[in-house]
Amino acid sequence: MFENIKFANPFSNLPSTFYTKQSWSSFDQPFLLHFNHDLAKSLGIDDDPEELMQIFNGSKIFEKASPLAMVYGGHQFGNWVNQLGDGRGILFGQIDSPEGLVDLHIKGAGKTPYSRFGDGRAVIRSSVREHLCGEAMFGLGIPSSRSLMLFGSNEPVMREDTERGAMIVRTAKTHIRFGHFEYFHHNKITDGVKTLLDHVIDCYYPDTKQDSDKYLLFFDATMKKTAHMVSAWQSVGFNHGVMNTDNMSILGETFDYGPYAFMETYDPNYICNHTDSHGRYSFSNQPSIAEWNCYALASALIDLFSETELRDILSKFNDYFYDSLIEKYRKKLGFKSAQDSDYDLLLGLFEIMETEKLDYTNTFRELSKMISSSDNFKLSEKFSIWLASYKDRLSKDENSIEDSRILMDKNNPKYILRNYLAQSAIEDAELGKAEKIDELTKVLSNPYVDLGKSMDKYCQPAPKEQQNQQLSCSS
Ligand code: AMP
Ligand code: MG
Repeated sequence: MFENIKFANPFSNLPSTFYTKQSWSSFDQPFLLHFNHDLAKSLGIDDDPEELMQIFNGSKIFEKASPLAMVYGGHQFGNWVNQLGDGRGILFGQIDSPEGLVDLHIKGAGKTPYSRFGDGRAVIRSSVREHLCGEAMFGLGIPSSRSLMLFGSNEPVMREDTERGAMIVRTAKTHIRFGHFEYFHHNKITDGVKTLLDHVIDCYYPDTKQDSDKYLLFFDATMKKTAHMVSAWQSVGFNHGVMNTDNMSILGETFDYGPYAFMETYDPNYICNHTDSHGRYSFSNQPSIAEWNCYALASALIDLFSETELRDILSKFNDYFYDSLIEKYRKKLGFKSAQDSDYDLLLGLFEIMETEKLDYTNTFRELSKMISSSDNFKLSEKFSIWLASYKDRLSKDENSIEDSRILMDKNNPKYILRNYLAQSAIEDAELGKAEKIDELTKVLSNPYVDLGKSMDKYCQPAPKEQQNQQLSCSS
């Protein structure tokens, strides 16, 4: 029962410079679009979804919550913005779960003192996208925020067109972002950075509390988690689209899903965000932008460390990233052991995928069939030559072909969240029909397992004219 869940709400005990305690703006007639039963169960919540919706919509008081709007800044497309968020989210409360703190956050909850020119709302379209991607990431084994529930309304919300408002109840280990530290540093709020560091260590790294290096350890851990997160994005072909520092969790969870996309045909220069005209957040720029963001975080910590100390840690970013990336691709190719030539082999495959405009996900998924079957795959001459050298490399691996095949199928998803599939679920949701969200959620939660012919519609590439499209920022 939700009533019996232990709430700790440590963020609400920080000084008032960190937030504004407030309620939020309920919808008149909310309607449930999706309830995440699996996530609810893992949190010990077994309540009636409709009743829970009354609580999260704000139409029923829940005493244990400590609702507040967090304040943070951030670098938006490389430019510093003193106060950026949270203009449309309420930290409802923090559950003290067996796995640590879990934030419950309501996005689209109406205006806060930080809303600037915005209305504080989210729309059905963006909320469905956020829900689906959180589940897709979770299914892929990539740390992410997730949504516990999603509800729509008839409240008109102005975007490019008039849409309808929605709220998403989001869980994450934390909603503390790089931009939180930057906010206190750049606005010269005395002791803000140090108070926040102590808070983060108390809540998320209690074992290091007595350590004289605890702040540096925190920075190192944050950087490592960020590097690992982005290596996971690259390996599944995910383009986040808005890697502003306010969208970077200090615990390396993917969140704040906007105009994201899972790439269809392989294109390293793909830019999913329509407003990103210079491609700052293009697919291939993501690792260097993650590193840039770590520099921005380091700048916010500069009063507590020497530049040399920070630079020593920052110099490890590349190793953290590449070690993790290579490990992931090794598994995708079915190798147990490492060989120097593996990198070139991989580059060879990328080159073929790019020139032949092959589907990133399906090409990797098909490889396990190509190595263990004598079927004739329709391959170009170049691909056939590559396949021969790949098979030769596999024959020298410690893994048997069967073991390689199993490893590959566990690491090359069959189902990813293709934007055209999300769009189809959105169009239904806007008419109040939520079945497609439910079905897509189910498929995405288990993306490595072949669900059979009846589900093959979920692994088809988008029609040609809808491949690798760009999405608007209000997504
Ligand atoms: P985003 O790029 O979606 O992460 O947005 C950055 C920040 O802009 C958010 O943290 C919000 O504080 C603010 N924001 C975005 N959309 C709205 C909105 N509709 N109303 C108020 N604030 C918003
Ligand atoms: Mg954001």
